[in-house]
Amino acid sequence: MIKVRFAPSPTGFLHIGGLRTALYNYLFARHNNGIFLLRIEDTDRSRFVEGAAEGLVDILKWAGLDFDEGPLFQSDRLDIYKERVDFLLKNGFAYRCFCSADRLDGMRKAQIAKKQPPKYDGLCKSLSPEESDKLAKEKPFTVRMKMPQEEIIFDDAIRGTVKFHGSLIDDQVILKSDGYPTYHLANVVDDRMMGITHVIRGEEWLSSTPKHIILYRYFGWNPPVFAHLPLLLNPDKSKLSKRQGDVAVESYKEKGYLPEAVLNYVLLLGWATEDSQQIFSKEEMIAKFSIERCGKSGAIFDIQKLIWMNGEYIRKLPIEELTRRAIPFIEKAGFEASDIGYLQKCVFLEQEKIKLLSDVPHLIDFFLKDDIIYDKNALDKVVKKPGVFEILNDIAVVYSELKEFTEQSTETVTREYAIKKSLKTAQIFHPVRVAVSGRTEGPSLFHMLELLGRDRVLKRVNYLIGEING
Ligand code: GLU
Repeated sequence: MIKVRFAPSPTGFLHIGGLRTALYNYLFARHNNGIFLLRIEDTDRSRFVEGAAEGLVDILKWAGLDFDEGPLFQSDRLDIYKERVDFLLKNGFAYRCFCSADRLDGMRKAQIAKKQPPKYDGLCKSLSPEESDKLAKEKPFTVRMKMPQEEIIFDDAIRGTVKFHGSLIDDQVILKSDGYPTYHLANVVDDRMMGITHVIRGEEWLSSTPKHIILYRYFGWNPPVFAHLPLLLNPDKSKLSKRQGDVAVESYKEKGYLPEAVLNYVLLLGWATEDSQQIFSKEEMIAKFSIERCGKSGAIFDIQKLIWMNGEYIRKLPIEELTRRAIPFIEKAGFEASDIGYLQKCVFLEQEKIKLLSDVPHLIDFFLKDDIIYDKNALDKVVKKPGVFEILNDIAVVYSELKEFTEQSTETVTREYAIKKSLKTAQIFHPVRVAVSGRTEGPSLFHMLELLGRDRVLKRVNYLIGEING
């Protein structure tokens, strides 16, 4: 039975790279009828963020990555780690370290000054068990694992054979003086105890893997299969970072990206089908995903492509669904959203143009409020032209005489009026559009007129006539 896990640290937000890791694990589990587990790696108390774990669960739910087990919290499992540390101590695979923070700091600085990799010098490794037991009663300590001075070789399902030399790797602290394990120990113990068969995670953890391999060996356990996903990069090929844009999935949600578009986009950051398919339903992702087709080289995070993809998904949504999803954004912009049928008609007219759900309130606001704001540029370009005053006056009369005020009837009489006055249709369409919407661009004019209704159209046209009159 295949079992994978997503094991985020609760830092306060989900990194977009974390979402990709979660997605690949989820897809691998679903593809293989396996189990997807959520484990919150919260043993670093100095970085504890209130509410972060709940936030992770919420955002995974938003993304539709439902887990079968969890969330399990490492902070609930301290006794288990303690027992494993005792096992390592008893068997000589780890030792207590009593060095003060000052000593370690001085050592690190000296090594850096000599251009050596910072590494513990092993002072406490030579303490006898008796000395160590005695000191443990008097002083705070950490526990370090012994790193064997040999080549450590393992297979990675994406990168092939990977080699590290133990002499370059620190005797890693596995238990801190506060009694909490470090990532390395807790991660290995949990992966084993939770029955994880495949560890699929970001490349930044590759250099930790030799430590994990050694811990598995010390415990007498078989390691799981490892698969390290390529780094996510900024367009300038540097490591994707906050400084160059948003990396929090939560902020994509807030800006009005659809979860299915975000998932589809991150799917392609490091994985592709042979024919480079771009758009995937969840079912297709599950059916087609495989670790074998994950790439090794860094994947560039291209926000323009994500925006494009979001637009694609928005255009495909049924109007009821699109409106339902846009309503929180409409309300947040201060509009009432009680007349769903009317909102659907408004959103429908703009569906082609919407890229983000957060675009919606602005795109449809002139349907929702009485006092529209006239775009200065629109007034200068369109309204302050000779003849506009007369055109708007005439059109107001023509529209008020109509029996029925519909898309077809308004179009017919507007075109007839153009012919009668030997005007180009644009000479009428543009000022009418500006009069009723305040702007030069928008949905098809006559659909817009019908939806606004005669009263509002006439009111706005007359208002603009008044404005031109000064
Ligand atoms: N807690 C680690 C993280 O925050 C987990 C890494 C792993 O998957 O082993 O990403």
